[in-house]
Amino acid sequence: MPELPEVEALRDFLQGAATRRVIDNIGIVAINALKTADPPIDAAVGATVTGASRWGKFLGLDMSTSGGAEPDLYLIIHFARSGWLQWNEHVSDRPLRMSTRNPLAARVTFTDGAGFTVTEHGSKKSLAIYLVRSPEDVPGIAELGPDALGISREDFERAINSNHQSKNLLTDQRRMAGIGNAYSDEILWEARLSPAKLGSSLTDTERETLFNAVNTTLGDATERVRTARPATLKAEKRQGMNVHGRFGQACPRCGDTIAQVSFADSDYQYCPTCQTKGKRLSDRRMDRMLK
Ligand SMILES: [Zn+2]
Repeated sequence: MPELPEVEALRDFLQGAATRRVIDNIGIVAINALKTADPPIDAAVGATVTGASRWGKFLGLDMSTSGGAEPDLYLIIHFARSGWLQWNEHVSDRPLRMSTRNPLAARVTFTDGAGFTVTEHGSKKSLAIYLVRSPEDVPGIAELGPDALGISREDFERAINSNHQSKNLLTDQRRMAGIGNAYSDEILWEARLSPAKLGSSLTDTERETLFNAVNTTLGDATERVRTARPATLKAEKRQGMNVHGRFGQACPRCGDTIAQVSFADSDYQYCPTCQTKGKRLSDRRMDRMLK
């Protein structure tokens, strides 16, 4: 799933590619993905793109229905677990078809023939699309905490000062916006902290280390993927990972074998030597298998 660095790269790309283009059509294939009814989706037809925005992990296409410089309509996408965006200079004009196996969720075409498609693979569909007059009309955006990219020390302290596990605090969008499962693994690895350590029990030094890890991990990743095109973003993200998605491989820092904690539909990775003093975090799926 695209997290802050990838959504920022998509925003940067769309800003350059879509600005000043005029909407010819927005075709919604996955009807359930469209979360808004008013304004109707056709309200965007003929609107001019004025730019692109990002709020946490939400991506927005800013549009003006009057042709002016100020946007008054926003197409906003939340990619969820397996959503993605593909840009095309020449979008197919074949009619959109519903199909259970079709990953296509929506297609946006501009009057000059260019456009992009939004896809979501997998059986669990949670990608969300909104057409709104103000970004604040999207509930998930209205309740976002401060953006994690360049977060101030004060905002960070407020976000992390809680009796929950560090892993959950970092990914709680209402506390800090933009970090998901992958980058929280990377940040905790960078800070050499256990994902299970409670935010409220972090020492002053650990909080400072974690704050610096948030800034360097997200800053470096954003810089690295900024120039990538949408088609290569996924691979760029994977290549940049030290611990996330690398279960069973060697930790690039200490050589220990990377461990993981599994849940019903997700898992996360960490290095026991670097992060948990060699201790294994309880993994219910693994425990069950060993019984
Ligand atoms: Zn290690």
